[in-house]
Amino acid sequence: MGAGGPAASVVPLVRPGGTLTATAATPAPEDTMPLEAGLLEILACPACHAPLREEGDELHCTGGSGCGLIYPVRDGIPVLLVDEARRPA
Ligand SMILES: [Zn+2]
Repeated sequence: MGAGGPAASVVPLVRPGGTLTATAATPAPEDTMPLEAGLLEILACPACHAPLREEGDELHCTGGSGCGLIYPVRDGIPVLLVDEARRPA
């Protein structure tokens, strides 16, 4: 699938002579950091909605029986797609 860089498409919108308002500023992603701690708390397995646990470069579903899918993380972006997930061995 297209693993392009949506995260790299952030272009500062500065008009000539205009003022840049910082009210809607989003925190810049830190490429060198692993997934933010708070991020895992809001992520859930799309298949069973169980919390996810980070292991290495992957996110493991903690749903237990019947699920346990493992989702890849590409360029620091969790790919929470059932089609992209793999089942545990
Ligand atoms: Zn699951």
